[in-house]
Amino acid sequence: MPGKNLSREEARDRAATIRVESYRVHLDVSAAADPGRPTFRSTTRISFDCAEPGATSFADLLAPEVLSVELNGLALDVAEVFDGTRVTLPVLAAHNELTVVAECAYSRTGEGLHRFVDPVDGETYLYTHYEPADARRVFANFEQPDLKAPFTFTVTAPAAWDVYANAVHERVSGEGAARTWEFAPTRPISTYLTAVVAGPYHVVRDHYSRELPDGTVLEIPLAATCRRSLAAHFDADEILTVTKQGLDYFHQEFDYPYPFGKYDQCFVPEYNIGAMENPGCVTFREEFVFRSKVTEAAYESRANVILHEMAHMWFGDLVTMKWWDDLWLKESFADFMGSYAQIGAGTRYRSAWITFANRRKAWAYRQDQFPTTHPITADIRDLEDAKLNFDGITYAKGASVLKQLVAYVGPAAFFEGARAYFKKHAFGNTVLDDLLDALEETGGRDLRAWSAAWLQTSGVNTLTPEVTCDAEGRITELAVRQDGAPLRPHRIAVGLYDRDADGALRRTDRYELDVAGERTAVAAAVGRPLPALVLLNDDDLTYCKVRFDEHSLETLRTGLGDLADAPAADGTGTGTGTGAPSLARALAWSAVWNLTRDGLMPTRDYLDLVLRFAGRESDVGVLQSLHQQAATALAVYADPAHRDGYGTALAECALRELSLAAPGSDHQLAWARFLADTAERADHLQLLRGLLDGTGRIDGLDVDQELRWSFWLALAAQGAATPAELAAELARDHTASGRRQQTQCLAALPTPGAKAAAWTSVVDSDELPNALVEAQIAGFNQPGQRELTAAYAAPYFEALESVWAERSIEIAMRIVGGFFPRYQTTPDTLAATDAWLAAHPDAAPALRRLVLECRDDLARALRAQECDAR
Ligand SMILES: [Zn+2]
Repeated sequence: MPGKNLSREEARDRAATIRVESYRVHLDVSAAADPGRPTFRSTTRISFDCAEPGATSFADLLAPEVLSVELNGLALDVAEVFDGTRVTLPVLAAHNELTVVAECAYSRTGEGLHRFVDPVDGETYLYTHYEPADARRVFANFEQPDLKAPFTFTVTAPAAWDVYANAVHERVSGEGAARTWEFAPTRPISTYLTAVVAGPYHVVRDHYSRELPDGTVLEIPLAATCRRSLAAHFDADEILTVTKQGLDYFHQEFDYPYPFGKYDQCFVPEYNIGAMENPGCVTFREEFVFRSKVTEAAYESRANVILHEMAHMWFGDLVTMKWWDDLWLKESFADFMGSYAQIGAGTRYRSAWITFANRRKAWAYRQDQFPTTHPITADIRDLEDAKLNFDGITYAKGASVLKQLVAYVGPAAFFEGARAYFKKHAFGNTVLDDLLDALEETGGRDLRAWSAAWLQTSGVNTLTPEVTCDAEGRITELAVRQDGAPLRPHRIAVGLYDRDADGALRRTDRYELDVAGERTAVAAAVGRPLPALVLLNDDDLTYCKVRFDEHSLETLRTGLGDLADAPAADGTGTGTGTGAPSLARALAWSAVWNLTRDGLMPTRDYLDLVLRFAGRESDVGVLQSLHQQAATALAVYADPAHRDGYGTALAECALRELSLAAPGSDHQLAWARFLADTAERADHLQLLRGLLDGTGRIDGLDVDQELRWSFWLALAAQGAATPAELAAELARDHTASGRRQQTQCLAALPTPGAKAAAWTSVVDSDELPNALVEAQIAGFNQPGQRELTAAYAAPYFEALESVWAERSIEIAMRIVGGFFPRYQTTPDTLAATDAWLAAHPDAAPALRRLVLECRDDLARALRAQECDAR
């Protein structure tokens, strides 16, 4: 396997011969604050056994320079054994000591040891991110999840800094400019889970303790950190509250004491993903530290991530997948637990399942209909495959399927199985069968057929109600038709809804049943009067796309906003009036969005539902996803002849709802943002400008810094802002966030020069850090600038292969996905995409996969436009 890649076979062979006893890693980042120093000193000592003395193997290392390699006391010739990505180990003994000293590079892409300088105060901050295989950018190692070992980290850093790693530090020594932090050895963990965070971080400390069943007391020191310049915005209390609720809940449900000592949560700059579950040292994107007002949905989302990462301490960190094929074992589970624990742990976020049904599943449905979809248990040949599988299948579909499994075996058996699994495989590695064995033992149900249907196949089923009535309007048959291959067993609820005295559409009957095969009758419904609405998969137990019969669809067209949940049996829940959040309503919104995406509902009909009912949507998370979907529908699914009309209608709707929303409410903020997303007309832009310069005012709307930037982005994209004005705004907000947003606004200006500058800075140069690459791309691609960006379609296809070959995979993925000409929704763009695919059968599979997915989105957009034009 050439270059930076590593194949499953290589990993399997290496694991068959090597057993790692321990790592000792010393990193010297004492000169990190000097921007002229591109590297830091890394010294690794690995003690390991080899089952076949005399065999050859290799360690992984991506470093600009290796100073020395010593194996069992013998200095090896660096030029001979190091090729830039691997260190060849020529002859191994039964027991080995390997010492590698290297100069490793600070990262600007969020991969490896990332270095960031805060524009506010000039302070330097470092953190690591490795998954799936970037620990080798920081120290020499055996980079695969099933070669676990205890790690002892020692870090030399500027004296004024703090350093965090997976374990507690035992000693800090040294005087003068630098000090050395010596950390305790970790429990056996995988390389991708190790972490170091260093810098003058602001820290809030707390403590968690719990009496265990055996009478001992478990003590867990807690810390939450962020950059100093964000300290004023850091609501550590709220973060630590959710943390403690989660620790209580997981100890109760998992019955295995938290195994990693202390629990630090570090919010770090320019982070590529949401968060990473490093044992004892979780890293989060610092956008979760809210600088300006955000809606309750943002707090809910952060709590979900906190609980997701915490679930990983058991599922993923304590018990780890053997290879990336079984990535789902940890991600599906953590994704499911993120929502499950929000309710179970008693957090204040009661809408978790509504959000899951409405937002998380949308990600899964989208991914599962790509031609590149895959079974939840995937076939991961190498690291490039692995990198692309942190996707809607591994996370959201996997979590949906676990939700279905809980409906199938019951929560008690599910958690009992999980408990047995943790105890049996603690500090080890597992595959699918290990989990099924544990669940079968406790649940008593054969899960092999279930697993074959749900975990080892791809694609989403569609469920459609078929209703027939007699002359009196009574149901003679209600059946559930299942489409899509393969057909699967589904445990579902069917809800029948009628209008009550207040006009609300409320459930009157609920039938829970197993759906199997092509057609399943709902016998209990026979004889009942035809309801206003039949809702399949009510309560969202299974994973499927839901359709409606004609009569039900007609009810939704005139009354989607009237849908309300039935009162919960125990009196709990989110409330039951039509003004209360409703899972049924969220499911209906999700279903009509799928109809639109599938070209079965004209975009104008979907937008009509949004115009009529979004203003009444009480769940702000659902409302914000409606805003996003409406913006997508307008940009790519609308018949081009009608785009302007739809856009104006949406902007007017935003303006109306903005004026109606309660002052200071989340809804008011959401509508203000949506107005910025849709404003094109001069009077709407004038209104935004007035809000910015203070000549306009909306009662209760705080035009804070983040909202200011979203208004500036709207003005910039319409050519109604100047670079000088954007520079002035940056001067007012001279922060990392301000810099990103100003960059995005500049790239959004509708001039050939702005587009060329954005394109060149990303495609022709490797200077920008990940965060600014993202900002340039986000600004470049504006739906209203089709003519201006059309010229970049051809250069895009020409650049693909060199971008993939030359850039780090994180940056390459952003360029390939971000610069695809997705607003050029024409058959010509589709033809150009097909031509590239046909001419590059041997391009990297991961690159082809990304292009195929962009192509599929485009083809879908063309179908939806056709439907809308009919
Ligand atoms: Zn995760």
